[in-house]
Amino acid sequence: MPKNTKTHILATIGPSSASKEVIEKLIDSGADAFRFNFSHGTHAEHKARYEIVRKLSEEKGRHITLIADMQGPKLRVGEFKEGKVILKERQAFKFDMRSELGDETRVTLPHPEIFAAVKAGDELLLNDGNIRLHVDKADKNNIWTTVVVGGELSSHKGVNLPNITLPISAITPKDEEDLKFALKLGFDWICLSFVQKADDVRMAKKLVGDKAWIISKLEKPNAINELDEIIELSDGIMVARGDLGVECPIQTVPVLQKKIVSACRRKAKPVIIATQMLESMINNPSPTRAEASDVATAVYDGADTVMLSAESAAGKYPVEAVKMMRDIITEVEADPLFYKLMESSRVHPCCVGESDSITFAASDISSVLQKVACIVTYTSSGLTTLLTARERPNLPILAITPDIIVARRLGIVWGAKSYINKASFKSFDKIEEIAIKVAVENGFAKPGEHIIITAGFPLGKKGRTNMLHTVYIPKEK
Ligand code: PGA
Ligand code: MN
Repeated sequence: MPKNTKTHILATIGPSSASKEVIEKLIDSGADAFRFNFSHGTHAEHKARYEIVRKLSEEKGRHITLIADMQGPKLRVGEFKEGKVILKERQAFKFDMRSELGDETRVTLPHPEIFAAVKAGDELLLNDGNIRLHVDKADKNNIWTTVVVGGELSSHKGVNLPNITLPISAITPKDEEDLKFALKLGFDWICLSFVQKADDVRMAKKLVGDKAWIISKLEKPNAINELDEIIELSDGIMVARGDLGVECPIQTVPVLQKKIVSACRRKAKPVIIATQMLESMINNPSPTRAEASDVATAVYDGADTVMLSAESAAGKYPVEAVKMMRDIITEVEADPLFYKLMESSRVHPCCVGESDSITFAASDISSVLQKVACIVTYTSSGLTTLLTARERPNLPILAITPDIIVARRLGIVWGAKSYINKASFKSFDKIEEIAIKVAVENGFAKPGEHIIITAGFPLGKKGRTNMLHTVYIPKEK
């Protein structure tokens, strides 16, 4: 039987999951896509893992999606003489650009942009938001602060500046190198970290061109201010709850998650929910009830994909974590409430183009016509499939494309299952026959059922859906 769930699983690859053996188990347990985190690991390591996944995909006849996640402008403090210090409440602490190692009174902050942007009254967060500092005064070379919440601060810990738009690009010189490497290797998606504004996405698009699709990670409050524009410009979105929960009050994260998921769905862009989904499985073979509930909530929200971070990259139970996600997804999608929620949150595509109206109607046909087995979307850019997925139909969505790159990109799009077929794009007469063949051979339809076909005519012309067709698969005599 083909995998029949709609919500996809994205697993981060790392030391715990670098071997062929483990990656194969992750795929067999339900992973549809892998994230390579360029904050860690060497190019040689990424290349070896990339080749393992591509080889396994070929062996298994699956189009596994590969995502290269850029580190982005992650800000960090410099080094301490003793490796770490303890900061106490109400003490003074200074950042500067001197080269000496840090101590209890000061440390280097090797980011000149911060000095230019920070002003008295701002808040500085360190070590995942566990330490809070109030800025008393700042000039070009120094930031004087008072500790509001203290704690242990060690060398190279992260610095977050909520609500400050820094004059830095989302693509650092390191990212440029990593990006070149990732595009040359053939990654399907590029993930941009710490996107602050729509212009960051524009700049990335210029660099990436059509070599990959772009996911913007939403982890800065100021990105939320330009949410619609960022979604419009991006090909996909990640709700990066780790940094988002440091930069925004933590109680706003669940609300932002729902807001971002529904904004993405309106624009038919895939959205990934990330970070701490099954966090305790880094060390334990089963999750907490709250974590199971968190994954379920993301599925009920209508997310396209749920992600594992350290659980699969560095934890003790990577395979169990994927299985757990798969089991939660299966359970939620079998709940009649799930499709009621998907249906009630559909956006009526009034006053939009023909493509949206065709995919909307395709989804509705199954509520009138009996025994519809699946929707087959013919797509050369991916658009027809994206628009069909937006309707969240209670039917498998098959994507038939001539292009392996498109097939791979669609692996994180809600419900989409990709198949390559070149012949059907050459001859209009073949689309019925091939749609039936793909649906039946892969176990999505059988004689006596209907399938719905959507396509853009002329076939192969990108960016247009204007054809809706139903086919009955005759019973064998
Ligand atoms: P990261 O991004 O794991 O690369 O920091 C995800 C997040 O911030 O949630
Ligand atoms: Mn992050």
